[in-house]
Amino acid sequence: MPSASFSEDVQQALQHVRYLSQTIGGRGSCTVQERRAGEYTAEQMQQIGVKEICVEPFTAIPSTYWGYALSFAAALTGLLIVLLSDRQGERTLAMLLNLAGVWGFLAETEFAPSWTRWALSRKESQNVCGVIPAKSDVRARIVLCAHLDTHRTPIFYSSEAWYAAFTALVSLSFLSMIVGAAALGLSIYQGWMSARWVSLVLLPVQLFGLAMCLHADFTPYSPGANDNATGVGAALALAQRLRRLPLKHTEIHLAFTGCEEVGDWGIAAYLDKNALKLGKDTTYIILDEVGLGGLKYLTADGLIFKHKTHPRALELARQAKHALPEIEIVEGVGLAYTDALQATKRGLMALTVCTVPAPRSGIVSHWHRMTDTLETIRERDLENTLQFAWTLLQLVDRRASNAVDSNSMRVSER
Ligand SMILES: [Zn+2]
Repeated sequence: MPSASFSEDVQQALQHVRYLSQTIGGRGSCTVQERRAGEYTAEQMQQIGVKEICVEPFTAIPSTYWGYALSFAAALTGLLIVLLSDRQGERTLAMLLNLAGVWGFLAETEFAPSWTRWALSRKESQNVCGVIPAKSDVRARIVLCAHLDTHRTPIFYSSEAWYAAFTALVSLSFLSMIVGAAALGLSIYQGWMSARWVSLVLLPVQLFGLAMCLHADFTPYSPGANDNATGVGAALALAQRLRRLPLKHTEIHLAFTGCEEVGDWGIAAYLDKNALKLGKDTTYIILDEVGLGGLKYLTADGLIFKHKTHPRALELARQAKHALPEIEIVEGVGLAYTDALQATKRGLMALTVCTVPAPRSGIVSHWHRMTDTLETIRERDLENTLQFAWTLLQLVDRRASNAVDSNSMRVSER
């Protein structure tokens, strides 16, 4: 595969990052700014000459913290009830409320149906999509995906130390709901301990979980230069390159999604609408935070339960890595979730491409912080991403050409 220069594409991507992170700024899920980011990508696609540009509206709960807050609030209410009255009826109610907390919390991490999702009201958001046709007949399809929205900037993302402490404490808060349900259950059926003691021990832990969730929703939205204006900028730069150098047999679908930061709502809506007609053989490439740190593709994705990347998507990534020995590319498990998770959970071939500051590299992560600005983006890292993504596209296209060519050879041999 001939190596090409991507410096022009990097500059184009950076222009998009500038517009999204500076002119628009923070792009909270379901906000006017998120919609403006969508309008901007639609305009850019139009200028590039992308076909079938459309807006696909959907509804979502505009905060991921509401679901967690409700879960903690339910469990806490249970603990407060037994603190006031330690009778059998109250213990049963408290146990059920702690179980409801566990269910709500777990469901939120897995985007699964739960009482919190039924209870909370939704708002409008949208995906913005387009198609770049293949030069010849279509034998393969790729969805290039990047989310438009940005996260809030709660204190627990403000430093590595805070994040580590927060992760441990939230895990503890979650465990406290399981322990609460179990201990209250035992106190009902075995009568071996006072439910008041259970409550006194667990109450501060759950209060911490609730306080963190409530705090998060009062913080401003990150300008999101790296997360994820770089992903959007890179996808648009690739689109422009594809108009110049179209793939022979591979149709490219662009999906700029809303509401990734609050639970992958946009990609879920996109897949509900389009996955069936795109077919099982479509490759989904998710660009998320691609301008700061070493290049990485994910072998598993998810907040608590790590869902393994489709083996065929991984094989493709490894082949691309092999084709680019000059770039240092690592593979590994993701820290949180990306848009790929929804596709992976549906058995589709989805690959997340991201950049991660390596430990002791001296590069500071600005993930979900107000400091996630254009100045921190590193052109080299963005260029590596573009080169890697371009290689993935070429490999899919080459395979599509070879597969049918060898089939037709076999037919003619008969
Ligand atoms: Zn992101």
